Amino acid sequence: MLACRPGAISRATPKGTIVRELPCRCWECIDCGPQRKRALMALARDGKPDTLLTLTVDPANFETKEEAHDALKHRYSDFVEMARKKWPKTRVEYLGVIEATKLGWPHFMRAPFIPQRSISRYFEKHGVGKIVDIRKVRGTRQVAAYVAKYLSKKPARFGDGKRYVRSQSWESQEAKAWRQENVKPHLWQLWDRAAFLVVEHLETFGHKFFECPSGGWLSPPIFGGSR
Ligand SMILES: [Zn+2]
Repeated sequence: MLACRPGAISRATPKGTIVRELPCRCWECIDCGPQRKRALMALARDGKPDTLLTLTVDPANFETKEEAHDALKHRYSDFVEMARKKWPKTRVEYLGVIEATKLGWPHFMRAPFIPQRSISRYFEKHGVGKIVDIRKVRGTRQVAAYVAKYLSKKPARFGDGKRYVRSQSWESQEAKAWRQENVKPHLWQLWDRAAFLVVEHLETFGHKFFECPSGGWLSPPIFGGSR
């Protein structure tokens, strides 16, 4: 298990400059791992899935796990594309959790108008892999339990390093609006050192930081402030 490695973010606002600790966001980190897991559970619930689908590949067909995973991913997006055309009303969305051990890929889907049998048949016909499991999901508690189960297994990462994949419109409009309002990464500067070192560094440029009760450090504006 890793402990969190240091990092910080800073941002200049009209009210002053803010510096905050930045979590590493690693799945293996003892601080960040559980948080990421909770966030993924919330994301899974928010998509209001109605189906849980598990696909697996036959390892004999591929040289490496990465290759197998890639094939599965492409086959899956072909399916989504086909389903969106064939059932335009249904607005297929998905969230998939990657599982390395069995080269399985459990997916939550929101596809209320597609019969389960049609999904099964598609993958039988086109599959690099096959469906081992397809079931109705009932209630948000069940969704959270499934996510917890898959994430407790050995961490799997492929290519871009993600542990899950999702379609663009998985989240509800309200959740998306909240996130866009509250997380604006482009406004923050990223530092690969601990927050107190960033504070020290900025103080050499004339900032005077104090610690905020709500976390982080704040320095009043140094040039042309309203004092
Ligand atoms: Zn961390």
